[in-house]
Amino acid sequence: MSAIDADDVTLTYADGTEAVRGVSLDIPEGEFFGFLGPNGAGKTTAIKTFTTLLCPTSGSVTVNGFDVVEESRAVRESIGYMAQETSIDPELTARENIRFACEAYGVPRGERAERIDELLDLVELAAAADKESGEFSGGMKKRLDAAMALVHRPPLVFLDEPTTGLDPKARNRLWEYFRRINEAGTTIFLTTQYLEEADQLCERIAVISDGEIVATGSPGELKRRVGGEILDIDLDGGAAARERAAEIAADSDLFGDGAGVETTAAGITVTSRRAREAGTDLLVALRDDGLTVTGFNIRAPTLDDVFLAITGDGADGGATDTDRDADGASGADGAGTAPAAADGGTGR
Ligand code: ADP
Repeated sequence: MSAIDADDVTLTYADGTEAVRGVSLDIPEGEFFGFLGPNGAGKTTAIKTFTTLLCPTSGSVTVNGFDVVEESRAVRESIGYMAQETSIDPELTARENIRFACEAYGVPRGERAERIDELLDLVELAAAADKESGEFSGGMKKRLDAAMALVHRPPLVFLDEPTTGLDPKARNRLWEYFRRINEAGTTIFLTTQYLEEADQLCERIAVISDGEIVATGSPGELKRRVGGEILDIDLDGGAAARERAAEIAADSDLFGDGAGVETTAAGITVTSRRAREAGTDLLVALRDDGLTVTGFNIRAPTLDDVFLAITGDGADGGATDTDRDADGASGADGAGTAPAAADGGTGR
């Protein structure tokens, strides 16, 4: 049985916004699946449709074998859902919040105490179990929220951008935790706008752009789809030099068919199966034209390059600094780590 089987799902909001357009997915039990896309791509709308919070405009979805429209209650009982907004009550302690979730999900009374301790351990909140959760750092709140989504031991968990706004250290801790629950057999459907997150965690990824799935595959498959290696060349001389260099690279027959040439903030990027062998010849051609190369690098493609190749857009355009609530704000977790560049997804 599939954990999620979505067939040609669309979701159009009342104002006419077609947020999800013809999405089909078949996610087997046990998979760590990533739904990757920039802000506004339709990730949350899709997750809300799969978790019965929104009714599909057309198409059908079964989750754990239950139809999201006809059997919405059974769907809800068989899943965990960690929404973007935390569902914790700041006036309750961590333990009380998890106990509340146990009640809400109908965990038998006699099992609650043990379950709560087990989850507090799993998300490393045992030491803070009896502190008011309103005092917690962003990372601690997210971990508590994740624990609450698991009290009823669901076979499938939806995580909607669980690490947005967290610093890298807090993010890594959550990743560990997600890996552990997946290794224990739980299917995970994760949405993210962080390429690195999908790359690190997911067995398979669907890339969503403007409501439509534009690519599906393992991180490795998607990277191979870029078709070759990437040659980054930095140049002096501003935009005119970059344009000229791109012209030379595109017009030369050094890279053969199918090479991609783009200008970047620092110079140009060439994607080609022959990036390695023809790279130095291009450097010579640029120099012969009077251009000054200040740096170059040959590398394997990242998921960011996949995104560029597919959508013509970077995937990390969404998160703004104001979105980012620095983890460690209370000093109780992460020792007040600064909110370092939270993306880390560009691989450059
Ligand atoms: P993501 O989670 O990938 O950031 P969303 O699913 O939140 O994307 O949004 C997809 C599109 O739907 C966006 O254009 C967004 O503005 C729009 N949208 C989201 N919620 C609503 C709503 N309640 N009514 C109308 N449009 C909405």
